[in-house]
Amino acid sequence: MIKKLANFIGNEFIAPVNEKYLENKNPSNAQVISMIPLSSSADVNKAVDAAKSGFNYWRSLSPQQRSDWMLKLADAIEAHKQSLAEIESEDQGKPVDLALKMDMNRVVDNFRFFAAEILQPENLHPEQFKIKSDFGADNIIVHEPVGVAGLISPWNLPLYLLTWKIAPAIAYGNAVVCKPSEFTSHSANALAEIVQKINFPKGVINIVYGKGFQAGQALIKNKDVPVISFTGGTATGTTIAWEASSLLKRLSLELGGKNPNIIFADCDFEKALSTSIRSSFLNQGEICLCGSRIYVQKPLAQKFISAFVEEVKKLKVGDPKNLETFMGPLVSEQHLNKVKSYIEKAKQEGATILTGGDSPKLSGDLAHGYFLNPTVITGLKQNSACMQEEIFGPVVSIAEFETEAEAVALANDVIYGLSATVWSLDQQKALRVAQAVQAGTVWVNGWMMRDLRVPFGGMKASGLGREGGKYSRDFYTNIKTICIKDPS
Ligand code: NDP
Repeated sequence: MIKKLANFIGNEFIAPVNEKYLENKNPSNAQVISMIPLSSSADVNKAVDAAKSGFNYWRSLSPQQRSDWMLKLADAIEAHKQSLAEIESEDQGKPVDLALKMDMNRVVDNFRFFAAEILQPENLHPEQFKIKSDFGADNIIVHEPVGVAGLISPWNLPLYLLTWKIAPAIAYGNAVVCKPSEFTSHSANALAEIVQKINFPKGVINIVYGKGFQAGQALIKNKDVPVISFTGGTATGTTIAWEASSLLKRLSLELGGKNPNIIFADCDFEKALSTSIRSSFLNQGEICLCGSRIYVQKPLAQKFISAFVEEVKKLKVGDPKNLETFMGPLVSEQHLNKVKSYIEKAKQEGATILTGGDSPKLSGDLAHGYFLNPTVITGLKQNSACMQEEIFGPVVSIAEFETEAEAVALANDVIYGLSATVWSLDQQKALRVAQAVQAGTVWVNGWMMRDLRVPFGGMKASGLGREGGKYSRDFYTNIKTICIKDPS
């Protein structure tokens, strides 16, 4: 049975105005599983109107009331975690178990975290100070919701990243119109069903599906959407930056990466090895924080490479429903072809494919899926396409370095600056390197540890702005100073 999705506007499911749809496939077997609304600006404008009404009510609630609603939503999501994980896996390709433990836990945490955050004393009580003179005036600094936020999200961590935007936006009193990736709309639709089921205030969360260049563009250009949070590729982000800045919109851009793992000879070998395998291939390597360039210090390089390849060969690629599966299919045929084209380029550039580079032989329906074996490449020049460009799949390259300065120079020699890992038991050296690497987040002796209070974002071509904790508050609110002069 092929499901037909509908836009979610003002808590109702509404067919797209033009009644056009596009096919959505299960990447495990290439079968069409749903029809996604191909929304136009007419649908987006309807959603923005609904969000404007939702905003008027929602902003009038107290932080405690908004927090209570968000906790109710988090509880309802938690109650549906298993089915949401299955929906996400079928639509995106990731293993169900990963979708449950990584994605859905974070979805719940996103709402709970910001529900608690808005009740922190610094958010409940405006900052206040007297002017240091004899003016006899008080300054009060208040954070007011901006209005309707446009949220555009990618396909790799669909509900995880979408709710990373929805939760802070609504916590601080905004209403939202979301445009998830056309490849992964199902979990957003399941969220909409939950929102409707618990009678969440109308018009606060609206979702419009379709293509970026249609629905996404309409959202960016809508004059009643003053704030845009976008996560996606750098090329798309650059286009959006031009458009949004010409309309003077507030913009947050979380973009691509080409993250280095710097492994010094004095590291904890086992931990560096096992974490580097996860950071290369978790979620099929389709996480913006995946390390795709591993630099190993010379004395350790051969031992590390042999052990790495041996362990990677054991990773199970196949049915995402199977508990032993580490990697499911890539998200789409188009993406699989893009990733494969980088492997071909690497071969042409004279690199060695140590393992992978091909698709696993799977039987039944899975034979039609978009699977790729985890691929390890060596012998690439630093200026080659595979070392410089984001591949965003299960492909990692390994190179050697000798000195600390060389490691830093190699790490920084790309246009991106999203994240990095540094592995060494010498804390001072690790900290020095962490400070020298140009990246929004650097993990020392670990990976993907995230406290939701800390700022998240990229340097260079990896983005603009920071979100998380009070950084999200500053993004999703207008900061106003009220200066009150004592009448006496
Ligand atoms: P895209 O940039 O292709 O798309 C992201 C979103 O933007 C999708 O919803 C897409 O819709 C929409 N979109 C595309 N073109 C436009 C446009 N002209 N105007 C408005 N919206 C548009 O990225 P992917 O979905 O391919 O995601 C992968 C990328 O996301 C990688 O580069 C990855 O590094 C990055 N990413 C960054 C993260 C970070 O935190 N820094 C986290 C996760 C991913 P549609 O799909 O319909 O085209």
